[in-house]
Amino acid sequence: MADFDVLIVGGGIAGASLGAEIAGRARTAIIEAESHCGMHATGRSAAFWLESYGGPDVAVLSAASHDFLERPPEEFSERGFLRTRGAVHLTRGELPELPSGVRSSPLDRQELEALVPGIRPEWRQALLEPGCADIDVAALHAAYLRQFRRKRGAISPDSRLEKGTFREGVWQAELSDGSSVTAAVLVNAAGAWADAVARACGVRPLGIAAKRRTMVQLRVGRSGLRDLPLVDDSAGTFYFKGEGDRSIWLSPHDEIDSDPCDAAPEEIDVATAIDRFEHVVDWPVEAVERSWAGLRSFAADRNPVYGFDPGNPAFFWCAGQGGFGIQTAPAASKLAASLLLQTEPDPMIEGIDPRPFLASRFSR
Ligand SMILES: Cc1cc2nc3c(=O)[nH]c(=O)nc-3n(C[C@H](O)[C@H](O)[C@H](O)COP(=O)(O)OP(=O)(O)OC[C@H]3O[C@@H](n4cnc5c(N)ncnc54)[C@H](O)[C@@H]3O)c2cc1C
Repeated sequence: MADFDVLIVGGGIAGASLGAEIAGRARTAIIEAESHCGMHATGRSAAFWLESYGGPDVAVLSAASHDFLERPPEEFSERGFLRTRGAVHLTRGELPELPSGVRSSPLDRQELEALVPGIRPEWRQALLEPGCADIDVAALHAAYLRQFRRKRGAISPDSRLEKGTFREGVWQAELSDGSSVTAAVLVNAAGAWADAVARACGVRPLGIAAKRRTMVQLRVGRSGLRDLPLVDDSAGTFYFKGEGDRSIWLSPHDEIDSDPCDAAPEEIDVATAIDRFEHVVDWPVEAVERSWAGLRSFAADRNPVYGFDPGNPAFFWCAGQGGFGIQTAPAASKLAASLLLQTEPDPMIEGIDPRPFLASRFSR
């Protein structure tokens, strides 16, 4: 018998949430290359839940995840993970069209000035999406890992998968510490490394592309910013949200092709972010308090990929979570779990069509 029923490669939010869903029903282990889980995309996000983000298919997963994030079951967490701040979508032209069902209302210039004081005159109108919220990502990720352990899931940090061999219905995974482990099913939850892990297992990569995104924490000459809404533009060239009384988190909305790596911010992207910011509000920029970058990974159609590989029914994809892997985690992990274990869908995802997310969509 194999050591485990399921071996999950990657301990970010994707691997942790799927692990928490299936442990207790299948003997499951997570192997994580780094010394602790959450070092890559999961630990570097902008930490918001924005229902309109990521297109109509993703919006369905985000909406289905909302109530769990706001009021999780007591045994999962004593407190919720969301703090509502609202989002303001600016435009120089037409108001953006949001996916159907997303609550929003237009703002005139006066309302806009009340929400974003000091906004420059060329931004004449905007759309308010009141449901946008911050997510406590560290607490959510920790709660998933805790649940996974509670259900007797095993976590091995410092265990990079070097090679996977599928023989006589069993995976043999060779790890960076020289040890090996066997499992009936291997789950690829390796984020930016998803294609590399597929290759290491002799499975055809699906073309999951890693793209760098930069974040900057700026101190500015304006106070009262902690509850500032998330402010973005419909052309997708920046976003920022309040962080401290006089500081914000800002991104130039960059999406730069990258090999999988420990991503770091480039000076040019930080400068671009500040330049774009200065065209939005008249607040003096005082200092870059810190900056960081992470890799968001996308399939060609920008939907996430859940399901068994079309060429190997023992290789399961849980990848391509783009810029929405945190806000979709509750529903996405339940969807992935029902596909993996071939069980009835949980009520949270009842009625969600899995087809836009299946790995088999790439078999044609
Ligand atoms: C700047 C930025 C802002 C973002 N903002 C948001 C946001 O506001 N809201 C939102 O919902 N999402 C956001 N995202 C996206 C979100 O962070 C990701 O979708 C999500 O974290 C992906 O999770 P993951 O587990 O797939 O990847 P990761 O967290 O990267 O985890 C993958 C893990 O696999 C491990 N691994 C790789 N190869 C191997 C191997 N061979 N063996 C063992 N382990 C391996 C890695 O070490 C890593 O820990 C943002 C991302 C970035 C970068």
